[in-house]
Amino acid sequence: MKNGKPSGAPTWKSVTYAFLIYTSVALAFTLLGVLLGPQGAQVGGTRPDETIPGHLAELALFGVILGLGSAVLYGRKGLPLVVLTPALTVVLDIDHLPAYLGYSQTIRPAHSVVFLAVALAATAITIKALDIDFVVVAAFMGHLAVDTGLFAPFSPISFQYYELTPYRPAFALGAVMCALAAGVVLRRRYRAEGTGGGS
Ligand SMILES: [Zn+2]
Repeated sequence: MKNGKPSGAPTWKSVTYAFLIYTSVALAFTLLGVLLGPQGAQVGGTRPDETIPGHLAELALFGVILGLGSAVLYGRKGLPLVVLTPALTVVLDIDHLPAYLGYSQTIRPAHSVVFLAVALAATAITIKALDIDFVVVAAFMGHLAVDTGLFAPFSPISFQYYELTPYRPAFALGAVMCALAAGVVLRRRYRAEGTGGGS
């Protein structure tokens, strides 16, 4: 942003890149789980078919709420973030793909802080927009705040599983804080550029 290329509103192009990067890293972690996970850890499955739409709807809803928290002040200019947040929140579950296709896999290989670190680094280096960085973290935490069951927080370094439920309130809080932080970044940028925040 400093090198003569200030980006004002988040663009559809940048949020599309963010989505593609996040999805690609999630798929890479899914593959790493299949390749590196010990046999005893390859017990990941899918939830019963009939509960999938409801769960995805819950994820999307929380994502929309987070996205609105970031960008509702900016009207149409904030819309890309309002769309990006639920899209990232939902797409993390692409790491269930092998089980869905009938292959054995580790449990939730991309529901991992290692995944978050890699996805965030890839997004930050490529897109260089702090608001989108915060949205990436908000969407990840928002997803874990809605999920229940087991996860491997350090996959693919360790496939030790932990119960997610005790951490859900912390993830929910982190998600909200990061969504709001994305909004603060937007607000500062608009002010610096004298474009106003809209109202
Ligand atoms: Zn999930």
